[in-house]
Amino acid sequence: PGLSNRIAAGEVVERPASVVKELIENSIDAQATHIRVAVEEAGMKTIRVVDDGTGMDREDAQLALRRHATSKIASERDLFRIRTLGFRGEALPSIAAVSKLVLKTRRREDDAGTEIRAEGGTIVSTAEVGMAPGTDIFVEELFFNTPARLKYIKSLHTEGAHVVDAVTRAALAHPEVAFTLSADGRPVATTPGDGRLLHAVAALYGRDLAEKCIPVEERGLDLRVWGLAGLPEIHRAGRGHVMFFVNGRPVRNPALTRAVLDVYAGRLPIHRNPVVFLHLELDPGLVDPNVHPAKLDVRFSEERDVAGAVERALGRVLDRARA
Ligand code: ADP
Ligand code: MG
Repeated sequence: PGLSNRIAAGEVVERPASVVKELIENSIDAQATHIRVAVEEAGMKTIRVVDDGTGMDREDAQLALRRHATSKIASERDLFRIRTLGFRGEALPSIAAVSKLVLKTRRREDDAGTEIRAEGGTIVSTAEVGMAPGTDIFVEELFFNTPARLKYIKSLHTEGAHVVDAVTRAALAHPEVAFTLSADGRPVATTPGDGRLLHAVAALYGRDLAEKCIPVEERGLDLRVWGLAGLPEIHRAGRGHVMFFVNGRPVRNPALTRAVLDVYAGRLPIHRNPVVFLHLELDPGLVDPNVHPAKLDVRFSEERDVAGAVERALGRVLDRARA
């Protein structure tokens, strides 16, 4: 694991929140139902992600730390076609390259788990370990060997906010998974994992906000839009949140955001922002896969149609709520 690995790592691992995001995605890919995230000093000191997913055997665990050792065989073009979030086998080796990492993992069918310690991408020990089924990844001293990267790290306050944001987006993308986040030993957020987006929103933003959200559900020929739309009245207090999830993946898209703002424009007091959590499910062929995998941006081949569907779905429920 030389310099090129550490440079490549910068693409995936920009800050503590990128580590959290990648580890969570792996847990989700491993069919976890509970994911626990704990950070110290906004993740700059330690990051731990524990799941109850499939786990790995010893050989796969060692392989997972090597570059391009994905078990999710797929090409980059398949980014949105495949069901899994990861696809290139780059996250774990990239994280390992710039930290001190302890990977513990056990498959349900095995009696014992495997513990692998790595420093700066080099495996320093492999041992058997007793543990519950699942995977437990501990990342310490992020960027200890890349001082240049450290310079880009903002305040712990900013980094902590990014960590919360990453967990929040993942929890809203996957209401069927129970998440907990703690920071410096204190609980920050917990979602029930009962499959209800409304319950995840209530857990993350409070019941007051959740109670002022109404369900959106619209099925088109090749597009399903579902989620929650905040009533305009909630926006008198607090800030807005507009979030989109495409085929289970948190995304950003200016045309969709514009569509939401347009729908709310005539309904909200000036300078207020809407609260909207929308899942879009569509044929992966209609999603432009030409986006950076670590970034959130997404494009659609029929962007106007998708934005139009979002506008109609939202407009309809808001009109109904007012009537
Ligand atoms: P990718 O997700 O693109 O396949 P990663 O570097 O993120 O690449 O992970 C490498 C491999 O390690 C995965 O393909 C998967 O087989 C395994 N893996 C990583 N995290 C977990 C986990 N939490 N549970 C089970 N397997 C995991
Ligand atoms: Mg991955």
